[in-house]
Amino acid sequence: MTDDLDPQDRGPKDACGVFGVWAPSEEVAKLTYFGLYALQHRGQESAGIAVSKPTGRGAQIMVHKEMGLVSQVFDENALNSLGGGHLAIGHCRYSTTGASVWKNAQPTFRSTATGGIALGHNGNLTNALELREWLAERDLADRSLLPGSLSAEATTDTSLITALLATYPELTTEQAAAQVLPRLRGAFSLVFMDEETLYAARDPQGIRPLVLGRLERGWVVASETAALDIVGASFVREIAPGELLAIDAAGLRSTIFAQPDPKGCLFEYVYLARPDTLISGSRLHSVRVEVGRTLAKEWPAEADLVIPVPESGTPAAIGYAEQSGIPYGQGLVKNSYVGRTFIQPSQTIRQLGIRLKLNPLRDVIGGKRLVVVDDTIVRGNTQRALVRMLREAGAAEVHIRISAPPVKWPCFYGIDFASRAELIATGLTTDEICRSIGADSLGYVSLGGLVAATNVAKDHLCRACFDGIYPVELPLSERLGKSILEDPVRTDLDGLHTVIAGVGAADALSRP
Ligand code: SF4
Repeated sequence: MTDDLDPQDRGPKDACGVFGVWAPSEEVAKLTYFGLYALQHRGQESAGIAVSKPTGRGAQIMVHKEMGLVSQVFDENALNSLGGGHLAIGHCRYSTTGASVWKNAQPTFRSTATGGIALGHNGNLTNALELREWLAERDLADRSLLPGSLSAEATTDTSLITALLATYPELTTEQAAAQVLPRLRGAFSLVFMDEETLYAARDPQGIRPLVLGRLERGWVVASETAALDIVGASFVREIAPGELLAIDAAGLRSTIFAQPDPKGCLFEYVYLARPDTLISGSRLHSVRVEVGRTLAKEWPAEADLVIPVPESGTPAAIGYAEQSGIPYGQGLVKNSYVGRTFIQPSQTIRQLGIRLKLNPLRDVIGGKRLVVVDDTIVRGNTQRALVRMLREAGAAEVHIRISAPPVKWPCFYGIDFASRAELIATGLTTDEICRSIGADSLGYVSLGGLVAATNVAKDHLCRACFDGIYPVELPLSERLGKSILEDPVRTDLDGLHTVIAGVGAADALSRP
């Protein structure tokens, strides 16, 4: 994560990580903290934990959230102040709908007639405007029962869900969820809670991951199995697409709120999730090694050494070397602690670009013909700088191999790529991209090769950013976008169509 140091070089951003635990006699806030630690790669803008704390007047939900990394948001004091309960949820955020500001950090919280609801969301809803209209209707209907105007505060799709859940004073949270969840469209892996019960729900397509784990005396839900491992929970199963789980003193209850139509995100396999995470029965490290083998078959090279772009290119580079018989080596050292920082770098420092992240090992690469394996090309700026740096360090040839197909389409299900016009593969052929980044050759793994490595049927995967086929119907472009729930800057394009400015690529499908 060096985007703040080099903002011209933003990679794809995941939407969020979610974690929830129900475990009497465990330190649930601390377990959540460590769970979020393992999910930090899924969202680095803000973090938060909600706990149900016993008080003299029954349990009460407390939320602590702040901008920054998990380690910056929580210290011992903050965690101690959240201690004492048996139920907690946590969230680390990258914003896909709503700005990256404190009020949009999660978990979101709403008072209800009987207490409160806290909720964390990984994904992105595609019908946020429709839901806001529905909320406005419900808000009016129930104004006598609920304080204030609910819709006034909702500037993220997540806070809309929380607000909608809070508009059923006559129902339990579980019953309210049965009303609200079937009306959500798009990607949502949710964890939420009231004072007594932990809930987890996944959209009918199961676009973002969500798993269930078992503690000796409790249950855990999390975005990735890596977060189960860190708290010592054993993996039980994935939460099924279209499933709502409720966990409390009465045990674990499962209900199906929508017909499942699995379309798991293919990009999780190549880029987003941790290599030690398990998705659909496959350890992602093994999937990525297999993709590297496929890449070597599809794009062989005459070379002396295979090197990864660390860390994300490492498994595919191992597979490439194994399949091709070309030795594997480490030619780049990552500056691991050049992390996200609140210290604004100067322009001079920014100009160092890729050197802030990676340092070439001249003794290893000098005079060598290199195969350099990376996970994705977004704008091409990184690879152009990388090729130049490797040549300056003495490489004889640089052959770039990418363990994903070209990214040509925006994601509306929770990943923030560059806009379509900024994606280098949108306008250029592979040969043209190769020339643009200055490599001796360039090869992307084929979509078929990538899908085969996942062991999941092609029809059960979302591949939209690669092939433009969107598995969940998209509304009109003017009803999409990151800033859709805020006061948008509207641009009248041609007197007929209005575009909403924002990072959510609202107009991406109609742009060249
Ligand atoms: S469009 Fe791409 S990143 Fe988005 S959910 Fe589909 S496969 Fe994943």
